[in-house]
Amino acid sequence: MLAARMHEYQKPLLLEQVQEAKNLSGENVLIKVGGAGICRTDLQMIDGYFREYIAHELPLTLGHEIAGWVEEIGESIPENFIKKGDLVVVFSSWGCGVCPQCKSGNEQICGKGKWAGFGPEGGYSEFVLIPSYKYLIKVDKESNLKPEEIAPLTDAGLTTYRAIRKVKHILGPGKSIAIIGMGGLGSYAVQYARILSAGSTVLAFDRNDAKLDLAKRNGADHVINIKNKKSEDIRSEVNKATGRNEVNAAIDVVGTEESIAMGFSMLATEGAYVSSGLVGKQIKIPLFPFVSREFQYYGSFWGNYNDLREVMELAKKGLIKHNVQKFSLSEANDALDLLREGKILGRGVLVP
Ligand SMILES: [Zn+2]
Ligand SMILES: [Zn+2]
Repeated sequence: MLAARMHEYQKPLLLEQVQEAKNLSGENVLIKVGGAGICRTDLQMIDGYFREYIAHELPLTLGHEIAGWVEEIGESIPENFIKKGDLVVVFSSWGCGVCPQCKSGNEQICGKGKWAGFGPEGGYSEFVLIPSYKYLIKVDKESNLKPEEIAPLTDAGLTTYRAIRKVKHILGPGKSIAIIGMGGLGSYAVQYARILSAGSTVLAFDRNDAKLDLAKRNGADHVINIKNKKSEDIRSEVNKATGRNEVNAAIDVVGTEESIAMGFSMLATEGAYVSSGLVGKQIKIPLFPFVSREFQYYGSFWGNYNDLREVMELAKKGLIKHNVQKFSLSEANDALDLLREGKILGRGVLVP
């Protein structure tokens, strides 16, 4: 099978033939990849950002946003659960199964967890081996969802869902939520903000007008281009849009020191901030306002299996708009370059 693989840090991926898994045993499932989302963390893997945090060997097939068709199954899969040809999405973070996080359903934050494309082989490939059927969610044929649309829902469309659920309790009519960054994650975050925030005003922030236009089409009430603007200018634009120069919640899918400083500067008293983006390495926020105005700060990482199940229910109902740009496997490096340059609108997806 053909796979785009990482052989060295800071080098382009190599497109090569590798042997796919054969004669599956136990709970294993081989998936014929129909779509593999291209995430900024894939770029960060290549750049070595995770080197000190994640042990893995090279070469490695990247890709943790995977949808495709069941190709082959092991002998220990319950009857009628899945069969060859079924369309599925892959829940790509696989925990130890016994720690408190795993037992409470949060395998994605298991200290001993493994993530497809960050150790185990990922989806930038024609086929991918999944260790258990328990990491799959079957997609009904009647839903008419395409693999390239649903692949990004397993991370970009999942991480943002979980992030917004963290602050949903403080939102409602008369409240507002800001989504910072309109890349692959932001375009979903805007939609979930609409769906989950019970009538709050949704604001989208980015430096790129095309991405902000997309945010409008995805349901943002107001969009603000923050390019070359100081925090006080941005606050006055928020004021112009909503009648208040503060927001009650902010979801930061960028995660630079700059975006976090800007986001906190417009947070209302008792406001909540969620960091999902990981571009920077440190957080620097003024302490006195944080304490005296009782801000809340959440880290939110990926999503759990049940979060993904809920996301797939929304997709099935047609409540999620899919903004994807398709690339072939041989275009993986070009697609990664475009992502690095901020030139992908929505999510880039490899379609082998
Ligand atoms: Zn990702
Ligand atoms: Zn665990």
